[in-house]
Parts: sequence; structure tokens; C-alpha cells
Amino acid sequence: MSREKVYFKTFGCRTNQFDTQVMMSRLEDFELCASELEADVVVVNSCTVTNGADATVRGYINALKRKNPEARVVLAGCGAHSKGEELLRQRKVHGVMGHSEKERINEILQRPEGFYEIGDLKHIDQTVVSEFVGKSRAFIKIQEGCDFRCSYCIIPFVRGDARSHDEEQILEQVRRLAANGFGEFILTGTNVGSYGRERGSSMARLLKRLSMIRGVRRIRIGSMEPIQIDAEFKELLNEPWMAKHLHIALQHTSDRMLELMNRRNRYPEDRALFEELAEAGYALGTDFIVGHPGEGEAEWRQAIERVEALPLTHLHAFTYSPREGTASTALKEPTPRGDIAKARHRELTEIVRHKNLAFRHRHDRDLTVLVEQEHEGSYLGYDQYYNRVRIKSDEDLSGSWVLLNEVTVGERENHAFFAF
Ligand code: SF4
Repeated sequence: MSREKVYFKTFGCRTNQFDTQVMMSRLEDFELCASELEADVVVVNSCTVTNGADATVRGYINALKRKNPEARVVLAGCGAHSKGEELLRQRKVHGVMGHSEKERINEILQRPEGFYEIGDLKHIDQTVVSEFVGKSRAFIKIQEGCDFRCSYCIIPFVRGDARSHDEEQILEQVRRLAANGFGEFILTGTNVGSYGRERGSSMARLLKRLSMIRGVRRIRIGSMEPIQIDAEFKELLNEPWMAKHLHIALQHTSDRMLELMNRRNRYPEDRALFEELAEAGYALGTDFIVGHPGEGEAEWRQAIERVEALPLTHLHAFTYSPREGTASTALKEPTPRGDIAKARHRELTEIVRHKNLAFRHRHDRDLTVLVEQEHEGSYLGYDQYYNRVRIKSDEDLSGSWVLLNEVTVGERENHAFFAF
């Protein structure tokens, strides 16, 4: 008997991409296929981060019903927790499976009847998955969920509280990859910096153990919260294997906004921390949400002056988008209009772009670059400060580490020539 074909459609963040890999690795009695048109089962690994994300998933499912009406549609991912019941009731999907059920997918998909297997939000997968960039950089998922309750965020309600992967499993996975030539590891998760809390470990402890693995040359951390950079972590700042770039999520620089957002950080401490880290030679990135309810002109002017004062080099700026079920949508504060939010987003982005340019002018030697791939006759890679470098060379540099002592600083990236 021929095996049924399964197609995975993944929406949303890197964590969802990882989750799709976990599910794929557990499918034993099915075959994977490359298009939803030939699939018997379509697993929609959904995202529910904003109202817009919900609408996109719903739109995909509706279109799928027209294109391949025979396919059984299974809703997985964060949307299973927020919209699963409703979509099942409306018969838009054949079944719903929650995050904790991923590793049982092989059995669940064999059910002929509709199902609602939502599970719980306490489970941690036994499969530590990695995603590879080229042949030398690997993302490792080390934890799941978040204990914070930021007003705008639905994640804790659909992914649960923070819990960490088993440390020995993480180390084993990195050992295996390092033995196969991987030299740079990027630790990721929902709230990565909370790693180890419930296991009597910590990010600093994990980093130390990882650094002792033969072949591990550079470690990056996806993102940290300011309060997670503690004394134990700071002791590691000068270690040669630490990437000299930290992404620290501030989300705003107005204290009133941070309070409305129910954030745990405040600007005076954030500034002291950023200055200390910059002093230690670090490039610093952050996340920033523009246009959240309550962001009036006064809040914005204060925020932008403070951004000017911060030693920032990288930025992920997001425009606030409401998510029903979150505290932010219930705030009785005026929300900036879309065009105002857009202009603020631009203003902020420009400031950090200039800061990055100035930083690259100051750091244009001793750059250790891990080359990822060839692109239109050049090789692309990132230096220890997480700045991109485009390298010309007569040799094949893919996957190599190169030390550059001369780069030309361009508007968006650095350029160099390299010969062995
Ligand atoms: S730290 Fe805040 S924004 Fe990030 S996942 Fe947790 S609740 Fe959401």
C-alpha cells in the first residue's frame, strides 16, 4: 500500500521552523511531499502573533480547501492554541494538535476521525533540533516558552512558561555538529536568556560547558533580556569564543512606555548596562516596538533622544500590531496613527544605521569572519560584531574562517579582498 503524503506549511518565527523539523523527524509511516496539491495531509504549523497573522493562516486554509479539497488539514503551532477550537468547530480543519503533541505526530495523523489533541503547555521536546546555515554555522534551540508577561505579547499564552532543554542533550548535539566541522553556534529559543533557571543551571554555565567542546569556535546568543545579563554572565565577556555582539531586547526607551508594556527593564539601568558592554568591546543590537498604545509625541521625543545616547549598532524595529487577548489591546491609551508609526520607524532605523556605520569605521581591522556562502561572485559572512562582510577571493572560501585586517566600509556592509 502506498504511503500517504504529508506537506508542511510553516508560518511565523524561527521557533516554528524548528518545530516543523521536530514533526518531520517523527513521521515514520508517511512520505513528505513538496506541494500542497499532491498532499493527502497538510500540516499547517501556524503563527498567531498578531491579528494579521491569524488572518493569513485562515486565508491559507480557505485557499487550500479550494485547491485541494480532498486533503486533510491539520492545524498545529501557536494558532492551534488560540484558534484551534473555532476552526475545528467551523470544520475548516480536520484536526488540531498542540505543541506538546508534536513528537506523537506519526500516530495522530493516522486517525481517520477528526481530532483535538491540544496537550499541555508544560512539555519540552526530547528532540534537540538544529538548523544549519551553510556547512559551518548552526542554530540550536535550547529552551521554550516565556515567564514574562509583556502587555503586547500572546506568546506565553500559546507557548507556556519558560522551560529548558536537557543540558546533556544540547551538549551532545553540539559535540556531534562540532565533530562534523561546525564552528559557530547560535543559541535560540523563545526567551533564550532564561535558560536553565528551573534546572539549577544558567546561560553562563551552559556557555562555559559549550566552549569546552573541541571545535566550538564562536558562540552567539539569539537574544537576551537586560535583567538576564548578571554578574556570572559578565565574567565571560572577555572569553575569545564569545561573539562580540549581543542582542538585548529593550523594546522601548521611554519608561512610561516600558511600564505600559509591562516590561521588566527601565532606561537608566539599560543605559548603564549598554555602556558597560560597549566598553568591553561589544556591538549591541536591540528590538524596539514603535507605535504601541500610549506612545504620544512626548514619549516618542524622549525615547528617540535616549536612543541617540545609547551605544547601539543593530536594530530590529517592529511596528506595533494589535493582538486580541493581550493586555495592550485593552489599554485606554491613544494609539499613534499608521503614518505616524511609519515615520517613527524610519527615524529610529536611520539613527541606528548611522551608529552602525560609525561603529564599522572604528572596527575595521582584526575582523574574524566565518564565510557562509558565495553570492554573485563574492563570499558573504559575518564578523565577530555581527556585521556583514562581502569578500572577493580567487579561492573558494565557503565555510572558512578568515581574518581580515583591511576592509572598506560600505553603506550597508564591509568589503574586502582575501588571499591565502
Ligand atoms: S519576553 Fe515579553 S515579548 Fe518576549 S516572549 Fe516573553 S512576553 Fe513575549
